[in-house]
Amino acid sequence: MLPFVLEKAKTAEEAIAAAAAGARFIAGGTTLVDLMREEVERPERLVDINALPLADIRVEGDVLVLGALARMSDVAAHPDVQRIQPLIAESLIEGASPQLRNMATIGGNLLQRVRCPYFRMLDAPCNKHEPGSGCAAIDGLHAGHAILGTSNHCIATHPSDLAVALVALDATMRVSGPQGERSFAVDDLFRLPGDTPHLEHTLLPGELIMEVRVPAGGSSRRARYLKVRDRASYEFALVSVAAALSMEGRVIRQARLAAGGVGTRPWRLRPVEEALIGKAPDRQVFEAAAQLAVREARPLPHNHYKLELLPRTIVRALEMTGEVA
Ligand code: SF4
Repeated sequence: MLPFVLEKAKTAEEAIAAAAAGARFIAGGTTLVDLMREEVERPERLVDINALPLADIRVEGDVLVLGALARMSDVAAHPDVQRIQPLIAESLIEGASPQLRNMATIGGNLLQRVRCPYFRMLDAPCNKHEPGSGCAAIDGLHAGHAILGTSNHCIATHPSDLAVALVALDATMRVSGPQGERSFAVDDLFRLPGDTPHLEHTLLPGELIMEVRVPAGGSSRRARYLKVRDRASYEFALVSVAAALSMEGRVIRQARLAAGGVGTRPWRLRPVEEALIGKAPDRQVFEAAAQLAVREARPLPHNHYKLELLPRTIVRALEMTGEVA
């Protein structure tokens, strides 16, 4: 690991000022320290934000508020999260290992870097760690890579399970930076790779995530997160689906779906949602709607299987929402 300077912020203002001057935020450190050890990340200055009062988990009216420094394990186990939005708890429990969940924060989870193996190989062409150098995955091994939102410059999937659930549930986030505070949809945090895959999010220099706000909505009890992976724990998704349905009698009034493991960012499945609204939930309806998820897909030879696995996972996740209704 290369040498770096570590400072501790006592207030958000101190942290933001340090970041605006070039420091990187560090909280749980579960991604950043790992990448610093491999010298993929080389920050010269870190600002420790663990002392900031941003770990609160609370309910405000019909909104669940998750502080950016709340630990994944604390959020997953919190009774209000399990009561109001169990989909959030389910997505967190499916992510990482218990030890990592005890350290990793909500804000850090959303900003974690990709798990493309070439991203960690300093001698492999990778437009994320060396812009303009090329993409080793496109002509190399890419079974775990994206089929949606890809470009000729990067095909890596976004790794967060939590982000998939938050995007499906129309969560918003509040950030604070040198220019003040602003709020926006979590869905708007993530960029497509295009020809600048090293730019992964829309935060401005120095901006700090303060909290994530999840509307409770009417779909919370009929919602599930289904993750398909090579082994049962501590593994990234081949395909995952967050599905939430609001019913009016036997008719689907509102559908919210997003997928992970298939897109270069958490992937909202709006065509699938639109095809479900107004229909009675049955397998045929689910199967017809699920096919729309892959209409825009651009698979490569090793990840072609996701064209079939994604619709199947959508159908099963939708069926599972009925099992908890
Ligand atoms: Fe790098 Fe993206 Fe290509 Fe992986 S897929 S090698 S992260 S540019």
